Amino acid sequence: MNTVKPYRGRFAPSPTGPLHLGSLFTAVGSWLMARQAAGKWMIRIEDIDPPREIKGAAQAQIECLKAFGMESDEPILWQSQRSERYREVLQKLMAGGNAFECFCSRADVIEHGGIHRFCVAKNAEKHPAIRLRIPDITIGFDDRFQGRFSQMLGTEVGDMVIKRADGFWAYQLAVVVDDADQGITDVVRGRDLLDSTPKQIYLQGLLGFRTPHYAHLPLVRDEAGNKLSKSMSSCPVDPGDPMPALRQVWQCLCQSPEDWPQERSPERALRQAIARFDAMKILSHSQMPTL
Ligand code: GLU
Repeated sequence: MNTVKPYRGRFAPSPTGPLHLGSLFTAVGSWLMARQAAGKWMIRIEDIDPPREIKGAAQAQIECLKAFGMESDEPILWQSQRSERYREVLQKLMAGGNAFECFCSRADVIEHGGIHRFCVAKNAEKHPAIRLRIPDITIGFDDRFQGRFSQMLGTEVGDMVIKRADGFWAYQLAVVVDDADQGITDVVRGRDLLDSTPKQIYLQGLLGFRTPHYAHLPLVRDEAGNKLSKSMSSCPVDPGDPMPALRQVWQCLCQSPEDWPQERSPERALRQAIARFDAMKILSHSQMPTL
C-alpha cells in the first residue's frame, strides 16, 4: 500500500516590502520542488506583525509572483484572518499546562543569559506574553539540503513566546498551525529559518500534528558560487521584466545557465524548467563549507 502523501508545498512571505531577489529565490525553489513532485504549491501571507507590515505589500507580492509565472493552487491563506484558530490552539496548550503567562521583559531575559527558563520579571504591571514551556529535550531532523540538524531546546532556545505581550501572534505558533491545517508535506524555505525548525517540530508533537519534510535552501549565491551580498539579495525584483531575475535565480539555485529554457514568457520558461531542475546540485553546494 502506498502511504506517501501527495506533495503539498508553500511559499509564505511576510508583507514587509516588495518581493526581492532572496524571496524570489525561495519562491522559485519551492515552486520547482513542488512541481517536480507533481504536487501543489500554495501562497500564504504571513501578515501577523502589523508594526512591520508595509501597506499594500502583500498584494504587490502576490501580483509580482503572478508576473513571474507563479500562482497559488489553492486560495491564499492570510494569517491575519486566523486569530480564532490560533486562540483555540493556545487555549489547548494552556489547559494542558504547556503554555503560561509571562511578564518578563526582553531586558529581564537578557539579564538572565538571554534564554527563558523561569520567570524573573521585575514588574508585573503590563500585559503578559504567553510562552510555551520548553523542556530539556534535544530535537533533530534530517534536512534535505543541510543534512542532520539538532538542537538542545532547553539550553539553546528556552521557553518561547507564542503570543506577544503586544497582543500579536508569534510566527512560531502561526506557522506550525498553518502548515498542519494546510496539510503541508514539504517545507522549502531559506536557511535562515533552520534553527526555528526544531522548536516547530516540538510544538507539532505537542499538538499531535504530522511533521513535514524540510528543505532549507542554502544562502543565495551568485553565478560564481559566492554568497550574494545582503544588499543584492534584498534588491527588489522588477515584475515588468521578469526574465533576467528568473535566469539569475535559476543560477543561484546552482543550476547551469545553459539549462535555462530559451522562452520569452515566464510561465513557459518555468514549465519547461521543471524537468531540467536538479535538486541534487543544490545538495552538493549546501554541503560546501561556508565561512
Ligand atoms: N514568513 C517568513 C519569512 O518571510 C517565512 C516563514 C516560513 O517559510 O516558514 O521569512
